[in-house]
Amino acid sequence: MNFSAQKNSQIVKKLAKDEGFDFCGISKAEFLDSEAKRLEYWLKNGFHGKMQWMENYFDKRLDPRLLVQGAKSVISLLYNYHTDKKQLNSDVPIVSKYAFGKDYHLTIKEKLYKLLEKINENIGKTDARVFTDSAPVMERVWAARGGLGWIGKHTLLINKSKGSFYFIAEIICDIELMPDAPIKDYCGTCTACIDACPTGAILPGKILDSNRCISYLTIELKDELPVEFKNKLENRVFGCDICQEVCPWNRFAESNKEADFQPQLEFLNMNKKDWENLNEETFNKLFKNSAIKRTKFKGLRRNIDFLEN
Ligand code: SF4
Ligand code: SF4
Repeated sequence: MNFSAQKNSQIVKKLAKDEGFDFCGISKAEFLDSEAKRLEYWLKNGFHGKMQWMENYFDKRLDPRLLVQGAKSVISLLYNYHTDKKQLNSDVPIVSKYAFGKDYHLTIKEKLYKLLEKINENIGKTDARVFTDSAPVMERVWAARGGLGWIGKHTLLINKSKGSFYFIAEIICDIELMPDAPIKDYCGTCTACIDACPTGAILPGKILDSNRCISYLTIELKDELPVEFKNKLENRVFGCDICQEVCPWNRFAESNKEADFQPQLEFLNMNKKDWENLNEETFNKLFKNSAIKRTKFKGLRRNIDFLEN
């Protein structure tokens, strides 16, 4: 690896920090050989549920050079979304922490474009694309390759010093950078996430069965919720943080300081009646800029009704 790759990596990491990203790790853009079989097995067994789009772009998912021609590096970035703030009434439907504030896709994309602009200014014009949950990119795998953590038994990325409540983003670019080394898996003999998952969605071998995962059921699934999950959703109405909440590595998690991710008091204060009576007008007002919009009113209403009845 040449001197300029090392120097440019330092520049990229410094710029990422300046832009507010908590961690930055670099990998060589290459075919994800080790993942091809796992992805194939996962899809073949239908663990992606009705997310048919996951079957598309199989090759692109495994090779970033098919997303950015001439790509040499994958820059992985983590952005904290953990918060100690809580919905104030303990009996209300629970929303996943990641959706407490403004939709992260918008906030993080903006930061990624700014970072890319700075890279262009400081290193030279690069051919690059930015991603955050927006294209067939195996984000957790790249973050782990770039030394930002390991993939836990619950299949999420865990950072050794700060846990798993992080959004993951990437810049795939044609600059040659110095790759970071992956770290080892620190799950050890722990099975806390598997034991705590109320629907048995975490299978051996770091496999997530989306068909059973509350996150998938409450956000991605458009049909009726299967009756077998009645009384099993642990009051989760949008997403589910249970496997992260029980993970010992999240005892080091700190609250994020991002203005966009701070929840509105009106949302935190909602009581049981407010949730029961939630109508489309209030939904549109309360969740105007939120990731909760993904389910649309109809989807969230379906989830509320499923918990209630
Ligand atoms: S998000 Fe919830 S349902 Fe999905 S694997 Fe984790 S604990 Fe299980
Ligand atoms: S709860 Fe335990 S097994 Fe699950 S991801 Fe965390 S450390 Fe690994």
